[in-house]
Amino acid sequence: MSIERSVKFPDIQKLFPHDKWDVGFLTEYQLKICAYSPIKGKAQEYGADYTNNIHFFSIVNSIVLAIYSPDSWDYSIYKEAEDILKKSSLQNWFPIYTNFKVAAILSGLGVRAKNSLIYGNKFGFDMKICVIGFEDKIIEWPVPERMNLQYWERCDGCSDCRLSCPAGAIHNEQEPYWLDSSKCDDFIGFGDHNRIPSIKNFWHKNVHPEVPQDKVDNMKSCMDLGGELSFDANGYTMDMQTGVLKDGTAIPVPFCRECQVQPRCSKWDGKYRYESV
Ligand code: SF4
Ligand code: SF4
Repeated sequence: MSIERSVKFPDIQKLFPHDKWDVGFLTEYQLKICAYSPIKGKAQEYGADYTNNIHFFSIVNSIVLAIYSPDSWDYSIYKEAEDILKKSSLQNWFPIYTNFKVAAILSGLGVRAKNSLIYGNKFGFDMKICVIGFEDKIIEWPVPERMNLQYWERCDGCSDCRLSCPAGAIHNEQEPYWLDSSKCDDFIGFGDHNRIPSIKNFWHKNVHPEVPQDKVDNMKSCMDLGGELSFDANGYTMDMQTGVLKDGTAIPVPFCRECQVQPRCSKWDGKYRYESV
């Protein structure tokens, strides 16, 4: 007969410095809900895949981690979380890739906003999320006080993110709210805005400046390219799990955050400092 081992939630929580991390808990039942909540597409996939399938490796209880991160496209959270856990005495854990938005809501770390993102109770929109599964039973976990399965109250009567979206991707005039992800993705990747940067602009300036400007101007969508921009020169590489690296270190790449910086819901007061990224 196997002996069930347990680990105390406060012992896990204290491994993650309070000023940089927020830590929540998911029951097995809640992880199932996350696993069966479809995601629109896999990106920065890391760990055991608990998305868009019927059968999953092992349904376990889990922790949800949110890290303070005001930068775009830096998903070093996975490795940072893993490094912290590897240095601890904790065992029988593994990273889980699942519907992180649902995980954040069910663990009480954040609430769904009308821009389609999760507003974190601790870091607002300036955060990234990951999940770590534990085969041991997590005990002494806190009942989330702020779980909210509805839309965030502050979004009531607000249209600021929709009106400020340069791609016209946000549809939150009336329910059901939805995001035109292809418009958003194309703008993030290939936008030609005079103030808001795109991945294409960063790539041309830093990675492949030899590409003629007119060719770059004609890049409008990843559908035109038949692939992605290659980060393969001048010390730049791409790791599909982390993002873009320079000389082996993860770096942010500035792109549109207009829907996350409006005065009603952000410390950025409508003016995210793209140039400092
Ligand atoms: S601008 Fe902010 S508060 Fe207003 S609807 Fe969008 S996410 Fe909600
Ligand atoms: S990131 Fe930019 S393009 Fe995408 S939905 Fe937000 S405001 Fe629109």
